[in-house]
Amino acid sequence: MSFRWYFEFSFDICRQDKVIVHIKQITMVDQNLVSDLNKRADAANLVEMLKNVAKQFPGKAVFTTSLGIEDQVITDMIFFNNLDIKVVTLDTGRLFEETYKVLNRTIEKYGKQIHAYFPKHESVEKMVTEKGPLSFYLSVENRKECCHIRKVEPLGRALDGMECWITGLRASQSENRHDLDFFVWDAGFKLIKCNPLLNWSLEDCQKYVKENNVPYNVLHDRGFVSIGCAPCTRAIQPGEDFRAGRWWWEDNSKKECGLHTHQE
Ligand code: SF4
Repeated sequence: MSFRWYFEFSFDICRQDKVIVHIKQITMVDQNLVSDLNKRADAANLVEMLKNVAKQFPGKAVFTTSLGIEDQVITDMIFFNNLDIKVVTLDTGRLFEETYKVLNRTIEKYGKQIHAYFPKHESVEKMVTEKGPLSFYLSVENRKECCHIRKVEPLGRALDGMECWITGLRASQSENRHDLDFFVWDAGFKLIKCNPLLNWSLEDCQKYVKENNVPYNVLHDRGFVSIGCAPCTRAIQPGEDFRAGRWWWEDNSKKECGLHTHQE
């Protein structure tokens, strides 16, 4: 694996006028590795792509699942093939009962662990005490604060120490995702992000789940396409945009929760 080592320096003047130099070692993945992974990515064989990721990043590859249909496809590929990829989920505390049920059915079916990350209770307690339990409806700022506390911060802990982050993003899911690649550098979390389902349609995912008897969230059968927290997700009508069911009271351009906004 190809790494370059960089050093970041910062200075503190302490009381005795001594200068303390803090040296922070940062691993920067060679951009060539991203290009190389993209060249080797076989869109027709996702299991091979995931096997290569597990081999390239032993013990350092993580898959974050929201238990949606796309993520269930990847979970099946990882668990069925016993790949060395850690599977984690973010329990925001506001999920649908149906989501917990599919989580439970998935754990039972594969007999594998899905690591749960919760928000820091102090942050949730402060936010809810000061602003109430539905503050996210009042402003984009409040909504982003809630997403940061319940999703982004726990995600940071889930990704800590990892080198490759696998997601279930598809290019057709939103305007912001059209220029994605199979492998991209995530400047925010400072790791390589792998999007194996990039070219898959929703119908491809539905077909895979049916043919392979993969557990899925029953809300998908009731018009829910992208499923997140219960107060912020609703069913959509046929022909409506994929993201119309998420944060429907906000402008389309603001509809990202901060999990997938750092690609470079
Ligand atoms: S989706 Fe809604 S409830 Fe969930 S973290 Fe974001 S604002 Fe909070």
